[in-house]
Amino acid sequence: MIAPPGAGKGTQGAVLAEHLGVPHIASGDLLRDHVARRTEIGRSVQQFVERGELVPDDVVLEMVRSALLVADDGYVLDGVPRTMAQARALYDAALEMDATADVALHLQVGEAELVRRLLARAEEQGRADDTDEVIRHRLALYDEVTHPILDWYDERGILVSVDAEPSADDVSRHVITALEVVRQIIAGNPDAPRTAINLTGLGKAFGA
Ligand code: ADP
Repeated sequence: MIAPPGAGKGTQGAVLAEHLGVPHIASGDLLRDHVARRTEIGRSVQQFVERGELVPDDVVLEMVRSALLVADDGYVLDGVPRTMAQARALYDAALEMDATADVALHLQVGEAELVRRLLARAEEQGRADDTDEVIRHRLALYDEVTHPILDWYDERGILVSVDAEPSADDVSRHVITALEVVRQIIAGNPDAPRTAINLTGLGKAFGA
């Protein structure tokens, strides 16, 4: 899953993982857990996470790699890759494990709604990086270094883009419907070239 902060990766990732019966592996959750447990990794990443900076690629990749190794039947990966270097490294790691990404799921939400959601979450959860200034920085980093990697998945034909502004339940329905279509395409011909699916215009086209 590749989406800006506040787009709903955590919510939709959990729903999707439950639907598919696979683990939901979220880099942000893993990092926050390390910080809370004051592990060596936690101490080394705390400042990056609290300031909304990207944690160094090698730390994230090593942490995620360990989580992937025990997820034999697939997984929903949330928050990685966030840089082109991470995307390449994951691609190589997956090849080594004889695995591949079936789908790159992109949740699209406009900036005003993202800021609104993150500030609302700040009131409820008090996450250290949900302050106005850090939120702006995380959004800018997303635009600059994460969003561009979507092109790579688009070219591979595995990008599924969904409008994630509607209610969480509606977005879940759209995501699951789109992924069930992809599942049937893959089952029918696993090695066939694929075409990216863009559902972000659906709402406008049908007025809902
Ligand atoms: P959000 O998408 O709302 O920023 P996450 O929980 O995905 O929330 O990430 C929180 C923070 O964890 C990021 O701001 C960053 O500091 C760190 N982080 C998570 N994933 C990565 C990653 N793949 N590469 C570098 N840093 C990461």
